[in-house]
Parts: sequence; C-alpha cells; structure tokens
Amino acid sequence: METTTHVEKMDSSFLEAVSKRSGENLNLCYQCLKCTAGCPTAPNMEFRPNSIIRMIQMGKKQEVLESSAIWFCVYCQTCGTRCPNEIHIGVVMDTLREIAMEEGIHAKEKNIHLFHEAFIQSVRRGGRAHEVTMLMEYILRSRDMMKGSLIPGVKLFLKGKFPLLPSFVKEKGDIKRIFEKCTKK
Ligand code: SF4
Ligand code: SF4
Repeated sequence: METTTHVEKMDSSFLEAVSKRSGENLNLCYQCLKCTAGCPTAPNMEFRPNSIIRMIQMGKKQEVLESSAIWFCVYCQTCGTRCPNEIHIGVVMDTLREIAMEEGIHAKEKNIHLFHEAFIQSVRRGGRAHEVTMLMEYILRSRDMMKGSLIPGVKLFLKGKFPLLPSFVKEKGDIKRIFEKCTKK
C-alpha cells in the first residue's frame, strides 16, 4: 500500500523580515529560556519572550502581532544581556510594535497601544517621559477613567513621586532629529 507523508512548508518571510529590520539573528535561538527567566514583565505576557522568538521562527505573524506580549516589553534589555547568543529581544519587540502599528493591527487588550503611544509622545515632547502628562493623554484618548490599574499611579503622584511639571532635555533639536530619522521611510 502506498503511503504519503505531508510536510507543511514553513513560511520564513516573517522571520526574514523581522531579523532584517531588527538586526537580530533569530535563527540562533535554541530555546534555553534565559531571556524569559530574567524578564520582569514575562509573568504578565500572553506569550513569553522565548515563545515569541519561536513563533516568529514558525511564521506565526498574525498571532505575534496581535499579542499583548509585544506591548508589555519595557525595553529593560535584561534578555539581551542574559542571552548566550546575544539576541536582544527588546529590539525585536520594538520592531514588532512598529510592524503592528504600520499594519493597523491592535493587541486584543483594548487600549494597550494607546498607553505606548502616550509614552512615545511624552518623550517626543521633552526628551524624557513625564508620567503625569503621559497618564493624562492616555486617559483622554482611551476614556479609561476608573480602571484600578491607574490607582497606583495616583497614589505615587500624591506621595510626590511624580513631578507635576515636565522637565525637558536641553537638546530638544536632537530629539526632533532622532524622531524624524526614525519615522523616515
Ligand atoms: S536567551 Fe537567547 S537563545 Fe535562550 S531562549 Fe532567549 S533568545 Fe533564545
Ligand atoms: S527587554 Fe523586554 S523582553 Fe527583554 S527582558 Fe526586558 S521587558 Fe523582557
């Protein structure tokens, strides 16, 4: 009796695109999990950092770009310093966020991208993040007024941990140039 074996061919175009754009060689990942073990936000991620790399290798573009994991990365670079293959997942996550925004793909969690955009706008204005204006912008755009997640921020503000007024860097022209360079196609 004749037997046939069906082997599905993996689409490597997403892996190639992310590797090229981020400059990270994702083929080197052998799933040692050192990145995930040190990642401070991994417990809150839908897919852990090592899983995101594996999913990219497997061409699961839609699942990766729709995942909240790419928005939970805070670019602390712990993964990059722990990885034996020097893969900087923070850079990869940044690349994935850019692709998701360009393709109009939002995470399943409502408003998660708005918080990210509020952070970027805050840095664009003054060269560094200012928590109060960032939070105000997020609340206005999301109309997310009463969520419990905002309470710690309010408590920190009342304890004087967040300055009321933003402080700007001296070289605002440099910040403008960096943003122009980053947004240039
Ligand atoms: S530490 Fe590096 S090699 Fe290990 S799972 Fe993470 S990305 Fe892959
Ligand atoms: S850079 Fe992002 S993925 Fe890497 S350890 Fe920090 S939060 Fe986690």
